[in-house]
Amino acid sequence: MSSVQKDPVCGMVVAPDSNLFLTFEGQTIRFCSEYCRKKFQERPRRYLAETVHADEDAKEARRVAYFTMEVALDPGIPSYSGGLGVLAGDMLRACADLHVPGVGVSMLWRKGYFEQILDAKGIQHEQPVTHFDPSRLLHPLVPRVEVLIENRLVRIRAWQYDLGDADFRVPVILLDTNADENSEYDRSLTDSLYGGDQSYRLAQEAVLGIGGVRMLQALGYCGIQRFHMNEGHASLLTLELLNWQGGTEPADWDFEDVRQRCIFTTHTPVPAGHDQFEWPSVEQIAGLTVPAEVARMLGGEKRLNMTLLGLNLSRYVNGVAQRHEEVSREMFPGYPIHHITNGVHSATWTCESFQRLYDEYIPDWRKDPAMLRKALSIPNERISAAHTEAKTRMLAFVKEKTGCTLSNEALTIGFARRATAYKRASLVFTDPARLVQIVKSAGPLQFIFAGKAHPHDEGGKREIENVVAVAQEIGQEVPIVYLENYDLEMAKLLVAGVDLWMNTPQRPMEASGTSGMKAAHNGVPSFSTLDGWWIEGHIEGLTGWSIGESAAADPKGDAKALLDKLEEVILPVFYRDHEQWIDVMRHAIALNASYFNTHRMVQQYVTNAYLG
Ligand SMILES: *Cc1c(COP(=O)(O)O)cnc(C)c1O
Repeated sequence: MSSVQKDPVCGMVVAPDSNLFLTFEGQTIRFCSEYCRKKFQERPRRYLAETVHADEDAKEARRVAYFTMEVALDPGIPSYSGGLGVLAGDMLRACADLHVPGVGVSMLWRKGYFEQILDAKGIQHEQPVTHFDPSRLLHPLVPRVEVLIENRLVRIRAWQYDLGDADFRVPVILLDTNADENSEYDRSLTDSLYGGDQSYRLAQEAVLGIGGVRMLQALGYCGIQRFHMNEGHASLLTLELLNWQGGTEPADWDFEDVRQRCIFTTHTPVPAGHDQFEWPSVEQIAGLTVPAEVARMLGGEKRLNMTLLGLNLSRYVNGVAQRHEEVSREMFPGYPIHHITNGVHSATWTCESFQRLYDEYIPDWRKDPAMLRKALSIPNERISAAHTEAKTRMLAFVKEKTGCTLSNEALTIGFARRATAYKRASLVFTDPARLVQIVKSAGPLQFIFAGKAHPHDEGGKREIENVVAVAQEIGQEVPIVYLENYDLEMAKLLVAGVDLWMNTPQRPMEASGTSGMKAAHNGVPSFSTLDGWWIEGHIEGLTGWSIGESAAADPKGDAKALLDKLEEVILPVFYRDHEQWIDVMRHAIALNASYFNTHRMVQQYVTNAYLG
């Protein structure tokens, strides 16, 4: 604690009003005893040196490096595209809160992902993000490192962003190839996140994996004992670590030594989500630091599979939910894959009105989100009032963005995430005529959608178009808006402001999903197919509702099951038994927010992956 004063000699806490003190170079220094004051007077420099070099020591004391292609740090930094980056930011924020000695390594994206524009038909148009100027929000670092890409030495510089507070910071190092010495193409390597072709992507992964390890070394982070790869984009770091062994013959490489230092987290059961590169281009672009034979042994015979490379050289491999562990084991038979279910950073994802409520009823919740289970003691009217405040704020935002005035009373369903076929944004509109009937008989309903489709994801773009088409068809009876440019700030408003958070992934494609956890932090129940985290978080009628009976139910029946449950269960509870509805809200907080948070998640990474 920065407010606590310590005796510089023995390190014990001293009372701020202790009269055992002396003034040294204009600073008042207090002591616990006459003994310490005398010791200090003899050799003041010796005892002060520690504070002077605290920053350097902090670097040496960093034990865990967390490598990630994207990381959501600040709404003003275009350093993320979606869930993976938001998770990385929440993870590092929790590390700071828990004083886990970590350092983040990611990329300085100058153009980020892209700006989404939807025309009247819901057709997505992409625009580059206006060039980001890092000097406003980031601290430039001096060291430079080089990585061989397509036989050119590419220079890499870095910027730092600190998470945490004065008590404890977790630095995040962002790699940047925009250096004068580099060619125009090489300078562009850290422009676009998930843009460009395979060669561009592979060069970026060489910057992250190989450049990242070299940069940590150049910056003086010499005590790193664990290298955690957040998805396969960073897997080339394993080859760089092997190379550190200094051997020249395969027999000289200490695979086990590298393995003891690496942790790999996989995030998707969708095969296309696992980066693969043809070996000839790997050899040409990424300038392998180990012989081809060794690289193939580790990364796959036919082509380089970044997940396989990570798996082969990691002490601990995990999926991001229980079910995802099972699916990953089927994808990679024979590998001991575990799971650590995702979470979200509680203080970040709780809206202001619920923050105030928790501060009043659960004072320790920010430090110890497990205490959110005490939400069971919060009275109905207080939960209801906090939610109304969040809903009003969100509806004002929708009005500002779209000109649409939505109702304050109608059951409002939110659906916001990356637009891609398996997430089935338009599943709820499979039978628009029946939806209109339901609204007429059971009560008003309105929908808020958001989410970008990757520029090459035609199926995802079609989902957006389908939603917009139905909005035009039945908008009179069932108001539907699709908001452009889903981002952190919008996510915060939506997960708190809607009444029900819907997720309809095709099983078992959703590794975890995190937005439903954000909703739970704001007392918003989920209504989802039993996949990802919801298999663990769902208790029917208590934390929300399922779509389909079980994880094994036939997906063909999902659309009907969805409408049936809306009509027979959800709308009746919302309109006719509001006390019960608030009880579900309360349990979403007490049972789910208290568990599906990054404090619990980081503690599991520490005990199971870093130390275990
Ligand atoms: C939380 C979040 C996501 C991920 O949500 P999922 O439910 O995991 O799909 C994506 N984008 C933004 C901006 C987010 O805040």
